[in-house]
Amino acid sequence: MSEKLQAIYRALRDAIPELKRGVVWCIHCKKRRTVDAAQCLEHGWPKCCGYTMTVDSPEERGALRHRAPNAATPENLGGRVP
Ligand SMILES: [Zn+2]
Repeated sequence: MSEKLQAIYRALRDAIPELKRGVVWCIHCKKRRTVDAAQCLEHGWPKCCGYTMTVDSPEERGALRHRAPNAATPENLGGRVP
């Protein structure tokens, strides 16, 4: 892993509020986990219940659904997310 790439990951993390706060949620069991997003970008994003964990809090995901009722959320798909 090059130092330049690690610097890019850290810059990304610090530039994006959802990454900077360092919390991810499981879309299935709602478990919450604290992470270093730069580490996740480097080594792989955390998974739970077979799903990639999301940086959007349950409240934020609710707001997104409200704005986009046809969004391809797990709930709208009946949990059938590949
Ligand atoms: Zn889970």
